[in-house]
Amino acid sequence: MKIITLDGTLGEGGGQILRSALTLSMVTGQAFRLERIRARRQKPGLRRQHLTAVEAAAAISSAHVEGAAPGSRDLLFAPGPVRGGDHRFAIGTAGSCTLVLQTILPALWTASRASTVIVSGGTHNPGAPPADFLIRAWLPVVRSMGIELEVDLLRHGFFPAGGGELRARVVPGRPKAIELIERGACRARRLRAIVAGIPEHVAQRELAQFARRIEGFAGEVCVLPPEEGPGNILLAEVEHERASEVFTGFGARGLPAEKVADRVAAGVRAYLHSPAAVAEHLADQIVLPMALAGGGRFTTVEPSSHLLTNLAVIRSFLEIDTCVEAGHGRWTVHVGRPQG
Ligand code: AMP
Repeated sequence: MKIITLDGTLGEGGGQILRSALTLSMVTGQAFRLERIRARRQKPGLRRQHLTAVEAAAAISSAHVEGAAPGSRDLLFAPGPVRGGDHRFAIGTAGSCTLVLQTILPALWTASRASTVIVSGGTHNPGAPPADFLIRAWLPVVRSMGIELEVDLLRHGFFPAGGGELRARVVPGRPKAIELIERGACRARRLRAIVAGIPEHVAQRELAQFARRIEGFAGEVCVLPPEEGPGNILLAEVEHERASEVFTGFGARGLPAEKVADRVAAGVRAYLHSPAAVAEHLADQIVLPMALAGGGRFTTVEPSSHLLTNLAVIRSFLEIDTCVEAGHGRWTVHVGRPQG
């Protein structure tokens, strides 16, 4: 059997290369070897979240795996058929549950029966999609492709304590191609400041500062039980007719609440001023489902290296053309069958 070889230093050089390779491998049945894993990261090799993604993928596809150990820089993954049903995975640290879910959900679309998956670990981590982003921004796009999928946040888990839990219920199905060119009219603007084991005034100050920067957001403070923390996150959601986006900022020791709000407001303002339907993070996360659908097209902000790297990984597994075109203050990403 032909084994696809991938270089972990490719483009962005992070965990996404591994996660996308796992998903594509399970869906296509093609084995892969990933060398020099996360070589561009400060702590290279497999970390807990990546290992859980490998273990979860191996469990649902009865894969043959070599090199799945903490710190490993070389992995071989040869999948079998994807198995639906009830699955439970524990990351064991505050590693991101959302990234593990995004790895296995598209594979479960190809199973012969429905699945319920529970993943425990971090649900609100810097450098990963927060659970609210997965549910309010990524999920609607996937559903618009005709996939039946529900994700529930059962318990918050912040970095570094973890202890959060997400549950996904997924029905097998083949995604269909979509186009996301214009975001459409604005339907709602919501702002939520969450604190767990952190004084409530931090959340109040974030809302007040955000309101000084951008008007029109309905603000809400959410105080969680201290045992779900410590943690603080500010979430701004902009819902349009055809696309929803979630912008986040995390509180950190020594970082004033006002600065957290300023950063989130800057992200929201940049998006609102751009004619793109999809912002930076959602862009790199919808190309894989689009490629599995066999095609799609969307407009976005300036392409990130995550997006370009993900497109390259996708082309290693699928006979598909991708193209990113600039024009009129936005970029259009095309995913489709090769021409001719
Ligand atoms: P990697 O750095 O390779 O592990 O990939 C991180 C993933 O998390 C990418 O898909 C990013 O788009 C995503 N991500 C990082 N920060 C955010 C955020 N604030 N909101 C949504 N997604 C995010």
